[in-house]
Amino acid sequence: MKYIEPAPIKDKENPFESMMSRFKIAAQHLGLNEEIYNVLKSPDKQVIINIPITMDDGSIRVFEAYRVIHNNVLGPSKGGVRFDPHVNLDEVKALAAWMTWKCAVVDIPFGGAKGGICCNPREMSSGEIERLTRAYTTSLYDVFGPDTDIPAPDMGTGQREMAWMMDQYSRNSGMTVNGVVTGKPGVLGGSAGRVAATGRGVMVSTLSALEKLKINPYNSTVAVQGFGNVGSHAAQLLVDRGTKVVAISDITGAYYREEGIDITKAIEYRNENRGTLENFDGADKMDDDILTMDVDVLVPAALEDVISMRNADKIKAKLIVEGANGPTSAKADDIIAEKGIVVVPDILANAGGVTVSYFEWVQNRLGYKWTKDRVNRRSDRIMRTSFENVYKTSLKYDVNLRIAAYIVAIDRVGKAYSYRGGF
Ligand code: NAD
Repeated sequence: MKYIEPAPIKDKENPFESMMSRFKIAAQHLGLNEEIYNVLKSPDKQVIINIPITMDDGSIRVFEAYRVIHNNVLGPSKGGVRFDPHVNLDEVKALAAWMTWKCAVVDIPFGGAKGGICCNPREMSSGEIERLTRAYTTSLYDVFGPDTDIPAPDMGTGQREMAWMMDQYSRNSGMTVNGVVTGKPGVLGGSAGRVAATGRGVMVSTLSALEKLKINPYNSTVAVQGFGNVGSHAAQLLVDRGTKVVAISDITGAYYREEGIDITKAIEYRNENRGTLENFDGADKMDDDILTMDVDVLVPAALEDVISMRNADKIKAKLIVEGANGPTSAKADDIIAEKGIVVVPDILANAGGVTVSYFEWVQNRLGYKWTKDRVNRRSDRIMRTSFENVYKTSLKYDVNLRIAAYIVAIDRVGKAYSYRGGF
């Protein structure tokens, strides 16, 4: 079959090619129909817009922005909006496709999308960010919608931006439409449990994998790269379940304490220290790379492509649980597999966020609110079932968990096409 040629992988991997190389391997194992492969290899829709905004000093700046819908055969497309100076179309395309696979792995009725604005929110005032967010929402009014395409937060965006997007979309519609975005503040229809949901899913995936590896969580050590939403909640919940988090890191560096770090204290410190761990005195600052530490579990929860050809052979953890999207490059996967390290892939490990986003959307449509307990119970169940399903698939096809997760996802999306047809 033509599609089986290996993807061209260069030294610095293009995120879309990295995603495609895994997709190709999984499609091959599954014997995916070539026509469906061709449908899935390109996004359904790619929108590039330029948004002129009046800055606080009176000047006008133009921001390039994107929304990519990879696929919506399983339901309305779902995916975050990233505010970052380096965001580009290839990255957004890869992230949109990952969303398709992620929703399909955990079997929720959403397709995949992603958006981004090339901007540096750290250098912009709140007013400038608000004008940009509202203009982006209005430009994409025909794309967004509770039944078509539902944005959510991603890097550089949070509840505040979601509230503006929801408000702007609602103004343009002449009525309140809270189901158009997820990750909103609770008072606007946000779900209980959404803020910690991704970290919670990382915790559930970690415990499920430790069980398979026959490692007792109470005897295990953990290092977490990134101490933002995903990393800090994952660290806290892992400590609550008995593991010892010995190292954490953020943009300001890495911090180590052999006896285990008091994560509650670290979170308090970060919250009072403008979001960073700079000068955190609850652990020693370390020079070594957190990624290559001798721990049982490594949770990369910051950036893409941090485990690559440069450092893959130095990784010592027995288990990697990918809190971030795309932290391991496709080439590094092979090296890690050779070393016998188990990887719970991003499209499974961090799917707790989109799962609770789905619950938020369901609650908005019902006009009803679930308790935090109910949200947590249901999302834990979905994460555990999805892990077991991917694990069984990995045994059936004799592949690693990443390829198994792609197989599960592509199989579901492919089946939906075979029933819907209509080409
Ligand atoms: P965030 O902005 O809240 O936190 C990012 C953290 O990474 C910060 O602590 C930052 O200081 C740290 N960081 C940045 N550069 C670093 C570096 N070079 N070394 C070490 N740390 C560094 O972001 P987040 O929401 O926690 O997202 C993190 C990752 O998880 C991203 O890849 C995102 O796409 C992914 N993700 C997030 C969610 C979610 O619900 N927030 C869901 C799925 C996936």
